[in-house]
Amino acid sequence: MKIHQSFTGGNIRVLRQQGNEIYLENELRDTQGDWFYWAFCVEGAEGMTLTFHFSPNRLGYYGPAVSHDAHTWHWLGSCDGDSFTYTFGEGEASVYFAHNLLYHPDRFLALAEKQNLKVEPLCVTKKGRTVPCTAFGEGELQVILTARHHACESTGDYVLEGVLSELSDSPEANKLLRVLCVPFVDYDGVVDGDQGKGRAPYDHNRDYAADAAPLYPTTQAIRKYAEENGCHFGFDFHSPWHKGGRNDTVFIVQNSFEKEERLRAFSACLAQEVTEESMDYKSENDIPFMTEWNKGAPTFAAFMTARPENDVAFTLETAYFGTPDNLVTDARLVSLGRAFARALLSYIAAHHPKAPTP
Ligand SMILES: [Zn+2]
Repeated sequence: MKIHQSFTGGNIRVLRQQGNEIYLENELRDTQGDWFYWAFCVEGAEGMTLTFHFSPNRLGYYGPAVSHDAHTWHWLGSCDGDSFTYTFGEGEASVYFAHNLLYHPDRFLALAEKQNLKVEPLCVTKKGRTVPCTAFGEGELQVILTARHHACESTGDYVLEGVLSELSDSPEANKLLRVLCVPFVDYDGVVDGDQGKGRAPYDHNRDYAADAAPLYPTTQAIRKYAEENGCHFGFDFHSPWHKGGRNDTVFIVQNSFEKEERLRAFSACLAQEVTEESMDYKSENDIPFMTEWNKGAPTFAAFMTARPENDVAFTLETAYFGTPDNLVTDARLVSLGRAFARALLSYIAAHHPKAPTP
């Protein structure tokens, strides 16, 4: 039996094994402070029942996400405090377990092919990887969509998939908008299985201080793109902290007092567009500006919202696990993204002065 992290998104350290009890720890790598992401593969455990133990705040409400191919994930459905037990069937030669539903970069490539979107190189990372992006639409309103400024925050990519699907399906959107989408901003972190959050000296989402040169090639390319093409709308899709309270919901991070009315108007459009099939969204969960941890640090959203042509730009946080009445699944996250795209179109129709009247 072998436990390893040699796959896209892998992150684990085996502390010790006592019989069928295995004690594990996630690797923080260059993250300052504590974080909770992990993902590992077990090979050659057919017929065995193993219990995996973690430190506190490493397991969600429904136990680990489980996969047989590192692409399609489901919740195990149960855990026992900070541990979970799994019985490997005779045919289960390799099983993946993770903190959250991982989003493999291949899934974005498959989506682009399905939607007839051309995947282009945005830039090359510090580790020499080519960062994928896609652009489409013939309109005058520039939209920039991003996810994974924090490498481990995969729910953002599922939501982004829905946004991309809905917008690229819509002839109206193609006429009205010009969209740039960067689905894996911290691409090295996504592939290597880093936390990404709180990286030393600072993470990708802190690499937007207007008076400082960008540290990372991806953020540099995004900032340059916005300077050359503008950004009327900027949306950055994240996952919040591990779990509990607001972290179990979908919420907008309000980043401006001046634009509070617009943020509320967008929020109302999104609340209107969510369906039974999507993750639910309630405006009351939005975090007001300068409240709790939301104290105006440099972010993609703050950078874009400060641009003169910008209407609104914000972070949307989507829970890792949700709650029994609002459970996170890949399909419900994608549906939320579709609702988000419809909300953008209805917001533009109602509030944006440049939009043609319907
Ligand atoms: Zn984040």
